[in-house]
Amino acid sequence: MAAHPSPRGVALYFRKLGRRTQVALCQLPLFLIVSIIGLVTPLTWPTLLSSPAYVAGLALHVLLFVACFLTPWERLHSSAYLVIPVLDLLGIGLLRNGAAPLLPGLAILVVFPIIWLAASGMLVRTNLVLSAVGPFLIMLPSTVAKFPHFTAADITVLLLFPLTMLAVSLAIRFASVNMRGQQRELQEMGEELRKLLGESREREKLLMTILDATDVGIVAVDSNGNQLLANNMMRRWQQAAAPAGAGPSEGTEQHVFAQDKITPLPPDKRPLRRAMDGESFADYLVWIGEAPDQRAVSTAARPLMDDGGRLTGAVVVFSDVTGLVEAMAANQELVSNVSHEFRSPLNSIIGNIDLVLEDSDGLPESTVRRLAVVQRNSERLLDLVSDLTLEASSALTIHPKRTDISGLVETSIGSAQAQAERSAVALVADVPSPLWAYADPLRIGQALDNLVSNAIKYSPDGGTVTISATGTRKWVRLAVQDTGMGMAPEDAAKVFSRFFRAESAREAAIPGAGLGLSITKTILERHGGAIACASALGSGSTFTMTLPVESIPGS
Ligand code: ADP
Repeated sequence: MAAHPSPRGVALYFRKLGRRTQVALCQLPLFLIVSIIGLVTPLTWPTLLSSPAYVAGLALHVLLFVACFLTPWERLHSSAYLVIPVLDLLGIGLLRNGAAPLLPGLAILVVFPIIWLAASGMLVRTNLVLSAVGPFLIMLPSTVAKFPHFTAADITVLLLFPLTMLAVSLAIRFASVNMRGQQRELQEMGEELRKLLGESREREKLLMTILDATDVGIVAVDSNGNQLLANNMMRRWQQAAAPAGAGPSEGTEQHVFAQDKITPLPPDKRPLRRAMDGESFADYLVWIGEAPDQRAVSTAARPLMDDGGRLTGAVVVFSDVTGLVEAMAANQELVSNVSHEFRSPLNSIIGNIDLVLEDSDGLPESTVRRLAVVQRNSERLLDLVSDLTLEASSALTIHPKRTDISGLVETSIGSAQAQAERSAVALVADVPSPLWAYADPLRIGQALDNLVSNAIKYSPDGGTVTISATGTRKWVRLAVQDTGMGMAPEDAAKVFSRFFRAESAREAAIPGAGLGLSITKTILERHGGAIACASALGSGSTFTMTLPVESIPGS
């Protein structure tokens, strides 16, 4: 189908034409009609050729059309071309009065120059006067010729025709004023848009400069994963991490490994994928690239929403934390080595004291008491060293399998019973049996023991410790709640950090090293689960462990 040119397109095309062509085109319709009338005159109304006015009218139109081409309009005033429609009125007057009464209808041709004059938008008042006076003068001679035998119809025609032409002129004038107004508005809007576009380009440049100045990789993607924006740092990483042949946005996602540095992350666990799925996360540690250039990267993501709250993409930030991770690993290795070295002499001390105390009959009472103190503290030291070793070692391995959690809860309550009785704490379990989860029974038992023992330890005035559990199809949630001393919420947020001890515990002089919860957290994370703490000073604490029901790939 052929495309129809729009009125605006035609107007633009017309404006691009030269002045002469424009004037000639405006004159063309009238000239064509007059030419046809002129050509058929010898055949249809031969008598008209003897009318000087008629012939002069024809000749004037030919002259005017030629003048349209020959006049150097560019050099004249912009309204000079209006002389053509004004002279058209004269030509039509000559034609009409030369041809009357044979062709009185030729007067209607004035509509062409009148439209032209009105549409020009120039010399408005003169044109309005001309559009009424011109037709009046054209009609006048034939009416005067009937003097004094006018009929009412003659007078009506004499007045009505100029008035009609005036109305046509006014209507066109109003329409073109309206159009011009709209055009001006459009122009203003266009200018405003251009200004805004310029400003937004400036802002974009500023934003990119800021983004490029940061040492973190930032990428924005739409919900299909198409890259909308990436800063320099991000591009450098994409190049470094891209396997041969991978596209720029695939790069960082192709060589993404889990925390063990070797297991490739399944696609739905990769940062970009998670972000595109609408997840919002922070401090998600992954390894990017292959050894020896492998980098530890902490990632964070925020979803992008439109005004209707629909997900349109995401912004993902990648920051290189290799140095920090390596420093932490070195620190852990040092702690692990030192605690390992402590273990043998401590074992030797404890073994020898055990031997001495087993055969302590000949020893004075006070020496036995002191040795018992040495034995207790050596054992505490050994416990601490064991915790440190476990905390620092990557040997905290887990062997998860389908495990009944209710059984673990029962065992844990059994072993904490004596401690609870000593502290006048009641132990309550509210756990459905069986309750299956994908867990290492040894490690989760250890985590549970730690939470229950803490709950009792930090309830110095007695109380109740409740272990409850709920399960969904995917997750098992195990809560250990106490009615003890609790801690300030800002402390509760830090309890999983190594060596952290809440002020409440320190003030109450309850002994501890601040390692148990850090180990518990590691155990849960290695299961692909999580642990959270909610507490308020004086109102007890609740620790909630979350464990997967099924094996999680990549965890
Ligand atoms: P530790 O108990 O040896 O100090 P943990 O890592 O087990 O080390 O606990 C860290 C800190 O968290 C504790 O020192 C204590 O301040 C706080 N805490 C842990 N469990 C509780 C609890 N049930 N109630 C109040 N505070 C607790």
